[in-house]
Amino acid sequence: MARILVVGGGFAGMSAAARLAKLRHDVTVLERGAEPGGRLLGVPIGGDRWAAGPESVTLPGAFRDLFRKSGRPMDALIAISPAGPRHHVLPARWPRHTVTLDLPFGTRGAQHDAVVAAFGSDAWSPWVDESPDPWNELRRSVLEVAHPHDSPVPEVAWSDRSLSRTVRALRDPRLRRLAADLPGLTESAPGVLAVWHYVERNFGRWRFDGGSAGLATALTTRLRERKVTIETGVDVARPVDVGVELADGSIREADVVVWATGTDPLAAAPTPSLEHTAVRLDGATEVPDDLVVHDSHVVRGWRSGTDGWVFEAPRDVDPLAVLARHGLDLTSFVTWRGSVPAPPTSDDLPRPARSPRPGLWLVGAAASPGASLEVTGMGTAALAEHLGAVPR
Ligand SMILES: Cc1cc2nc3c(=O)[nH]c(=O)nc-3n(C[C@H](O)[C@H](O)[C@H](O)COP(=O)(O)OP(=O)(O)OC[C@H]3O[C@@H](n4cnc5c(N)ncnc54)[C@H](O)[C@@H]3O)c2cc1C
Repeated sequence: MARILVVGGGFAGMSAAARLAKLRHDVTVLERGAEPGGRLLGVPIGGDRWAAGPESVTLPGAFRDLFRKSGRPMDALIAISPAGPRHHVLPARWPRHTVTLDLPFGTRGAQHDAVVAAFGSDAWSPWVDESPDPWNELRRSVLEVAHPHDSPVPEVAWSDRSLSRTVRALRDPRLRRLAADLPGLTESAPGVLAVWHYVERNFGRWRFDGGSAGLATALTTRLRERKVTIETGVDVARPVDVGVELADGSIREADVVVWATGTDPLAAAPTPSLEHTAVRLDGATEVPDDLVVHDSHVVRGWRSGTDGWVFEAPRDVDPLAVLARHGLDLTSFVTWRGSVPAPPTSDDLPRPARSPRPGLWLVGAAASPGASLEVTGMGTAALAEHLGAVPR
């Protein structure tokens, strides 16, 4: 049995802890906050908590696997249901060629119909059809693998191209924007990451009952069932050779440290380039729950609660001004507004479980800035498999 300290009780830390405890390791979660959950509980802006992203996930199998492999099936703790379409505004040089597209998830036929309704024909579906092989390669050689400190750079499909090159096969510039504007990525990201459109189309997007806070509650219950010790109010300063050093200077020993604080403890913190602006609106009920405006600066938005939305945009761009330029002028409905820097993201291939040195593993956003919840879950699955079960 290994003594494992998991530092950080967000989705990455909790999913790692649940899996490792089921494998009979002695697992303790050290969480700085008053309760586990991390960004699943929302992001504090102006005294309230706001949704950290669109409250939906793809690859439901990654979550089902997490609950099944850590005890009982997911349905015993939390239900999921399909999420609605994502609203895209795809501007063109001539305003009358601007297209709005409500792109559904989960079926090729529904996507085809939506694209035909918006564009008159469908060049999108055949382009997305090219992704299954690269997706399987990415999954098997990068996402479902724990990457030890001495492992070579993983081989991936389409390694000769960037995202901008991969989307060039789409001739319509509006479809190119749709394809290239993936959360947290720029056009110089690896081309293989374009497979995310295939993933969303094939596996759908899903909402947890009670949103991501509901997922946090279900995971906390699972950790209690697995008898994982959760220590809250513990601020960990850094990993050390024998375990971790706390902010008060004391040492906690461990055989393995799983670092899940959202930031890499051995690297300089990257500068955030995006900002999250939260707004409360009085009366503007027509705002989609999940939207992307593909302007020269991309603006994403998602609902948070009944009358709140969060908009993500580059730090020097006013998201409300961009929305107003594209027919969604919310300024007269805003009753409150506040902003915080968004977490940093990275164009690197996501390696959601990687070890910078023996005995120390990084998972979730600490391993891969901007890693989505699904990718984070795949990483903690890979880590559990890599560390293995304690023999009975
Ligand atoms: C609803 C939602 C939607 C999202 N949508 C997207 C998306 O569309 N695209 C995308 O790229 N990402 C998205 N994300 C973000 C992505 O999923 C995050 O990368 C993920 O939530 C990070 O989880 P984490 O556990 O690594 O970090 P966190 O959730 O940040 O958890 C870190 C935990 O560590 C604790 N901690 C921090 N420092 C210390 C310390 N020194 N000592 C002890 N404890 C510490 C914190 O208190 C926190 O509880 C979304 C997240 C949510 C919740």
